[in-house]
Amino acid sequence: MKLTPELTESLTLKFSQTARKLIQEGKQIYSLGLGEPDFETPLEIKESAIRAINDGYTRYSNSKGLLELRNLIASKLQKENQIESTPENIVVTPGAKNALMLTLMAILRPEDSIINLNPCYVSYIPQIKIAEPKSNIINVDLSKENFELDWDLLYKKTENSRNIKAMIINFPNNPTGVVLKSEDFEKLGTFIQEKNCYLISDEIYEKLSYKKNEHLSPGSIEAIKDRVITINGFSKAFSMTGWRIGYLNANKDIIQTVTKLQQHINTNTATFIQKAACEAFKLKTDYLSQYLKQLNERAQYMEIKINKLKRVKVIPPEGGLFGFVNIKNLGIPSDNFCTELLNSKGVATTPGIAFGKSWDDHVRISLAITDDIFFKGIDLFCEYCKSLE
Ligand code: PLP
Repeated sequence: MKLTPELTESLTLKFSQTARKLIQEGKQIYSLGLGEPDFETPLEIKESAIRAINDGYTRYSNSKGLLELRNLIASKLQKENQIESTPENIVVTPGAKNALMLTLMAILRPEDSIINLNPCYVSYIPQIKIAEPKSNIINVDLSKENFELDWDLLYKKTENSRNIKAMIINFPNNPTGVVLKSEDFEKLGTFIQEKNCYLISDEIYEKLSYKKNEHLSPGSIEAIKDRVITINGFSKAFSMTGWRIGYLNANKDIIQTVTKLQQHINTNTATFIQKAACEAFKLKTDYLSQYLKQLNERAQYMEIKINKLKRVKVIPPEGGLFGFVNIKNLGIPSDNFCTELLNSKGVATTPGIAFGKSWDDHVRISLAITDDIFFKGIDLFCEYCKSLE
């Protein structure tokens, strides 16, 4: 396999593994690194998995996924996201990450360009290069003032590009916590039509919007509905990160190619896990409300504490599991900042450089941490910043 320099070690995992090692050595560590919801997978889902094993859901399934599950996903997409969908538009995969990977493999050809907004989820760039080493990534930075999409910059950076095959977006966003605004939603439709390309919309944090924003799914825009590939899953909304189950919704041509890839790469997603995932659609609609309240409280605490600092600032996140803190005025590279913070205060965070070359002046803090660890971790984070001010 051709390895390109973009295939780097995951910095999110590097720091959380160091934190875990320090914990094993008996050190008190406040781990504000990884993005795994800090509530348990709902009991109904767990019990359903056990039932499914006992009921014989232990064999291969259809490569696209169990029809029962695809039916439930299709109705969810229609009802909640206004996306036209049938079970034939869906492939169930081992995680949203795998759905992204198969999608990129299905669409990218040598010399294709793909637009990527920075900062971005750590796996986008490595996955693009694994899918097609000869692809060209057009990186476009979100605004450093407010993390908004800079449309002038986007048009400027793409004006002379041929072969734009796709654009990847992720809202609510990891790592900034911004959600898709309605003005941007409209403009995206026009942009994708003009560029005549696919839009890969990663909506894994859809349910974790805690400022009461309406979640907007670009797959519902009539003019581009056939060009949008919607990625979603169960990891974040149902705290099922370790179960490995996600899905994509796309036009039938893409689904045909993704199905072939799935047949040869994964065969199918574990059958009893698919069966258990069906249970997720039967949970009460407000089962997340308490958790969203907690996320909101943690986000507010982080904002109030950090924005009292002289040289460190955070733009309040509105969704997802993270805050992205600006440490530019401290003049220290993010990797050094995070290493020193871990060594001196025992607080693990993730360096901004992990999310894009031009984001070395930021640090990501996870909100998905139990209150006692989170509040203490933020206090220590602020103490450390003050010592540098
Ligand atoms: N997309 C984004 C933006 C993520 O942050 C993550 C996980 O952190 C994923 C996709 C992967 O989700 P999954 O666990 O379903 O593979």
